[in-house]
Amino acid sequence: MGTYFSGGSIWSRYGERVSSLRISDGLIAGLNCEAIAGDEIVDLDGGFLAPAFIDGHAHPLFAGRESQGPLVNGLQSVEEILAEVNRFAEANPQAKWIVGGAYEAAIVAGGDFLASWLDEAVPNRPVLLHAVDHHTIWVNSRALEIAGITSATEDPDGGTIARNPDGSPRGTLREPSAFSLITSHIPARTIDDDVQAIAWSGKRYLESGVAAASDCWVEPGMTEAYIAASRSGLLEIDYDLAFLAQPDSWRERTGYFAEKRRDVESLGANSRLTAKTIKFICDGALSSGTAALLEPYLDDPASSGLLIWRDEEILGAALHFDKQGYQLHIHAIGDAAVKQALNTVEQVITLNPMWDRRPVIVHAQLIDQADLPRFAALGVIVNFQPLWMYLDPMNKELIAPRIGEKRNNRQYQIATLVKSGAKISYGSDWPITTQIPLAALGVPTHRQSPDRLPPDGWSGHESISVEESLSFYTAGAAHQTFREGSSGTLKVGLEADLVHLSADPLTCDPHEITQIRVLSTYKAGKRHQFS
Ligand SMILES: [Zn+2]
Repeated sequence: MGTYFSGGSIWSRYGERVSSLRISDGLIAGLNCEAIAGDEIVDLDGGFLAPAFIDGHAHPLFAGRESQGPLVNGLQSVEEILAEVNRFAEANPQAKWIVGGAYEAAIVAGGDFLASWLDEAVPNRPVLLHAVDHHTIWVNSRALEIAGITSATEDPDGGTIARNPDGSPRGTLREPSAFSLITSHIPARTIDDDVQAIAWSGKRYLESGVAAASDCWVEPGMTEAYIAASRSGLLEIDYDLAFLAQPDSWRERTGYFAEKRRDVESLGANSRLTAKTIKFICDGALSSGTAALLEPYLDDPASSGLLIWRDEEILGAALHFDKQGYQLHIHAIGDAAVKQALNTVEQVITLNPMWDRRPVIVHAQLIDQADLPRFAALGVIVNFQPLWMYLDPMNKELIAPRIGEKRNNRQYQIATLVKSGAKISYGSDWPITTQIPLAALGVPTHRQSPDRLPPDGWSGHESISVEESLSFYTAGAAHQTFREGSSGTLKVGLEADLVHLSADPLTCDPHEITQIRVLSTYKAGKRHQFS
């Protein structure tokens, strides 16, 4: 007995629709077919059935952790954040550290948040909040004191401590090497805390129509939690884990990564877990002036941002992990970082034996024009965040003044890359931005703010169709994550990972896609119904 779908639009892949679909035993069993006696019949009722979304770049465990701390996401003033931190601290007197996120750095000019502000909310216990970009943290005086950070502390390699004129720390630290001065003092979370966080994220994903995701910042302790969640049957969608390689620790962690990859593989085929990827971070973010640029920032002509890796160091690490069969997944936002990432991949292809490596550059916001054809030529997949492709307040007020209109307007050259033959996939970067694909799907088409500005779209010539976007969020992300043999399209024999939407996103006004509801998500044929 199976389940038979008809009575709506069934989108099977780019450029192809079918009139009916039948699933059985968790797999797609027929297209354009008849129901078989005993099948459950699902009338799509004029709605839309498609392959479930695949989130090719996100941080679901961090999202789950954030849900367990003060809820400062989206708050628009320091006062509101302090009130929430204070509320959480009082409600959780047993918490030795107050850890949470993610605050919006753009609400304070320059982005430096002061320890003394947080001291007003919580004076006696250490507090650490992540900014939305995950490249910045804000801590109180107690946290600085515990970490022993004073005017005598030097900035670590690749990171900065924001300082007062006398050199004393202000309370804001940038990039992981600087955070670890603080985070190394935070008592480890229990595995059970993280298992709960993973289970929470999985539920949010299912509600959003997502059936697989990549966790692209996996540090020691996190794989253990995913394994525990898998063993407890709490993984309801598929995950691939990307271990974070950093300049100062990749050599010593390589044995640990190999061991965790083996642990994951030994869970077996039904574990919903793989660990096949290594994440590199080449630079920071444009909003914080840490993205690495070929030409200097306008507001600070002495700075072109920060390249986190030296060229020979990232090449050494990339060659090493590629040889071990890991997929390379490289964060690069500024044009200098994108160039470093492309150069690294080019060298890896030249120096290591050939295999189906599918290297990924994620974000790729600003690309040197000479580098545009290199993505297709090198087989580099671009993982874009579709929700970011409009002139939001961050791009308009924070980034444009820093890099100038011309460079600002050259961000997200997706149509150009599509035309060049580059492979594209999508990711939400949750919790930096929402995990909900329907919130993002129309944006690469209209490239406008929710109030439809600018009228012709932000660099409207880079607009692509909604159907292209839908394929990048399904087949494109399936290809990125080596899942094309099991999901991403509707084809007989693939897993029945489906999303049933209340309306067809390909025929409505792209701005109205945000109003479409996820009625059900099917993961390997199991139905999760939402309305
Ligand atoms: Zn990310």
